[in-house]
Amino acid sequence: MGVGALPELQLYIGGEWRGPNGRDTQAVLNPATGETLGALPLATSQDLDDALDASQRGFDAWRSTPPEARAAILDKTAALLRERADALAAIATLEQGKPLAEARGEAFYAASILEFHAGEAVRNYGRVLPRAPGLRSLVTKQPVGPVAAFCAWNFPIINPVRKISPALAAGCSVILKPSEETPASAIAVVRCFLDAGLPGDVAQLVFGLPDMVSRTLLASPITRKLSFTGSVPVGKQLMRLASDTVMRMTMELGGHSPVLVFDDCDLEKTLDTLVAHKFRNAGQVCVSPTRFHVQEGIYDRFAAGFAERAGRIKTGDGRDADTVMGPTANPRRSAAIEAMVENARSIGAKLLAGGGRADGAGFFFQPTVLGDVPLEAAAMNEEPFGPLALLRRFATVEDAIAQANRLPFGLAAYCFTENGRRQNLLGDTVDAGMIVINNVRTSWPDAPFGGMKESGFGSEDGPEGVEGHMVTKAIHVS
Ligand code: NAD
Repeated sequence: MGVGALPELQLYIGGEWRGPNGRDTQAVLNPATGETLGALPLATSQDLDDALDASQRGFDAWRSTPPEARAAILDKTAALLRERADALAAIATLEQGKPLAEARGEAFYAASILEFHAGEAVRNYGRVLPRAPGLRSLVTKQPVGPVAAFCAWNFPIINPVRKISPALAAGCSVILKPSEETPASAIAVVRCFLDAGLPGDVAQLVFGLPDMVSRTLLASPITRKLSFTGSVPVGKQLMRLASDTVMRMTMELGGHSPVLVFDDCDLEKTLDTLVAHKFRNAGQVCVSPTRFHVQEGIYDRFAAGFAERAGRIKTGDGRDADTVMGPTANPRRSAAIEAMVENARSIGAKLLAGGGRADGAGFFFQPTVLGDVPLEAAAMNEEPFGPLALLRRFATVEDAIAQANRLPFGLAAYCFTENGRRQNLLGDTVDAGMIVINNVRTSWPDAPFGGMKESGFGSEDGPEGVEGHMVTKAIHVS
């Protein structure tokens, strides 16, 4: 494999790699050029049946594997991710478009997620409830069973690792269907697990027609858990399918993160932090700051500073060293952002920076800032998932909280204020699974990551992520 090429695109089922061999295929594109990088084989129904059978065998073996042995494999996988970070980053950038430095950071962060889960694998404790002498109740945890995990293309290295790690730490097997648009990163990640010694049947990797794959896997009595990262509409559809067999679910869905910026914030520092965070991964992040509600006293300075910084961002192919923002990952995103910008401008939003597709054959869109955006604008109500910042003014803290809680989503929220009393109020009253004050970092391996309202339920990472892959039993002994 040379620079600019993907490794072989295959499925991994029942301990063997399966190539095209007569299967239908789907083209994988380079979003920076629009060129085809490879042909991805799509699973047949026989492949999915084989994956389910293997997953049951894998579960039977893995749940009986001592936790220390499971932990050692997770730790070794982490070491391989670190060792192979450059190769992994090259693949992720090629098929997803993000700058190489961001993709490399993904590989290292994914390694730290694995290391945390290696620790958790040996800490799946229960409780003893003493009663009268000779009588006691035990509360024990055991792995829920084979997991069906589906994840999106925006973090092609982290998303697969975040799905596989808690399942393995809990003692579950897993069938992973990553995005068909970024398959090679997931293949390279699964190779790290296998090279670290993961037995063949414990993890299956499939690609296919998403609807066919999810209907098959979720209808099977073998699957006992659904874990999904992706859009709200697809999440709702999968929840309906999963309810037929009453399986456990972890749903990490979209958001529409509000940012509340108060007059007393450190303005320059706030701007530097927010602009970098907004355009990271071309805004294609579930926790991307989206609605910037800015207090009247600093709104004009904030808007000018934001637009000026956004206008300086260098866009380009993620493989070029000076690129700060790559293309959007697929033509759907650039088209959706274009429509949202036109819609907002047609009802009075002011264009402060960017506003259109950037030159080049790929799916580029300029870092775009809109000011005084009406609440009726589509972008103020649907997740843009792209390089679009929406600015509005507010007067009081009550106004700001009402704006933050206006939508049916509740993933991340950001607040910038030096006032401690107000920080506490915002933490208690803003509807979001993650509230970040005077910063933008939402994710640490030991902290629960997840949303409320239509952004989903259940957490990834933290002890909560493993807990979501376990069932609790009470055993009363006399
Ligand atoms: P989409 O809803 O079509 O797909 C999102 C992901 O879900 C993709 O990876 C896709 O392969 C998968 N998917 C789609 N249908 C599925 C099905 N029936 N069964 C199983 N998996 C299925 O959207 P898209 O155009 O790829 O992305 C745009 C939207 O997705 C954005 O508006 C954003 O809300 C959302 N998104 C969210 C996240 C996140 O981290 N929460 C990540 C990526 C995309």
